[in-house]
This record gives sequence, structure tokens and C-alpha cells, in this order.
Amino acid sequence: MQDSELELRRAVIETAREMNRRGINVNKSGNVSARFGAGFLITPTGIPYERLEPADVVYVDLETGAAHGPRLPSSEWEMHAEAYRTRPDAGAVAHCHSCFATALACQNMPIPAFHYMVAAAGGDSIEVAPYETFGTRALALAAARALEKRNACLLEHHGSLALGATLDKALALLVEVENLARQYVTVRSLGEPRIIPADEMARVVEKFRTYGRQPEEKK
Ligand SMILES: [Zn+2]
Repeated sequence: MQDSELELRRAVIETAREMNRRGINVNKSGNVSARFGAGFLITPTGIPYERLEPADVVYVDLETGAAHGPRLPSSEWEMHAEAYRTRPDAGAVAHCHSCFATALACQNMPIPAFHYMVAAAGGDSIEVAPYETFGTRALALAAARALEKRNACLLEHHGSLALGATLDKALALLVEVENLARQYVTVRSLGEPRIIPADEMARVVEKFRTYGRQPEEKK
């Protein structure tokens, strides 16, 4: 195993553990992956993050869907695979069943532009991908459709999903989706949510394309 692969395996594990520390993961329901070579490295199914070793992380070939390694990949590996196929710019994908994002997803309630940070997901809303049985290709395709024009989505009766150029960015967006969901639920308790006009959200989305980037980062 090359150093770069070992490093990425460690980063996948660290990101999964960070999901626990950030309070967005429940037991073993979340999963994390990073694009690597012609496929991706993903957390295995059924092993607590604290016990994960680099060798437990599973390599999945994007073209064949074949998994390589002593462990079985996360049951949602197809959701990750379809995200990478749909979004060539995605370097990492993270999924969880965090409380508020899942609550909205269960009620099939997309998050509208009540706050400008909704644009962090790439548009003026965060949509809900229609329900499909967990671990199926049908769910993977439904999620991928929702990710065509967004970097994150909710999954009906299930949870949330986010992608990013790096593991840190995918995790940060997943955490932000949960934060926005919590704020949106709170706002709704105060009355009808007030929505930012579409032209202003278009401006914010554009601003987000360059937001927080240092000059050396061109992408
Ligand atoms: Zn799930």
C-alpha cells in the first residue's frame, strides 16, 4: 500500500470519528468515503469507528462496483458510487441520520432559502430525494438525481448526504445541513418562514463559489 493510500484511509477513519464528535452520527448509521484512483475508499459496514484500522477501509471500483479488502463496504456504498459517477468534481461523500435533517426528511420538507447559508449546498434550497429502501440501487439513483445540481440533499424517511472536493469539505457541509435544519425547524415554530428573494440567493450562490478560498486554491 502506497503512503498516499494509507494516508487517505486514515483520513476516512478520522472523518467518520469526527462525525461522532460533532454529534451528527448515531451508532453506525453514518458512512464516509473519499475518491481514490478509479474508485473510492469507504468505511466498512458494522464496525464502530473507534475500532477502525486503515485495512478495514474498503476500496470499491467505480466501474465494476467490486469491493476489495477483508471487510464488506458500508451498506450504502452504492449511494456513494452514484454520487461519484454523477459528480466528477466530488472528492468525498458523507452520510448520516442526524436529528433535525432527518426530521425534515421524514416529513418530506425541503429546506428553502430562509437563511443565506442554504447556498452552501449550491443553490437556493436543499431538496429531499424520494424514499427508497436503504442499501438499494434505487436509493443510490434517487440520491444521485438530487445531487446533480446540489452538493447536499435530504433523503426521505432516512437522513442526509453531502459531497465535497475533500473529506473536510464534505463533512463541513453535512454538519452545516444539520445546523440549517435545526434553525429551519426553530424558525417554523415562530411562524411562516420568511424567504430570501431568488435574485439575492443567486448572488449568494455565486459568492459561495469563491467563499473561504485562499488564493492558491483555484478549484
Ligand atoms: Zn443511512
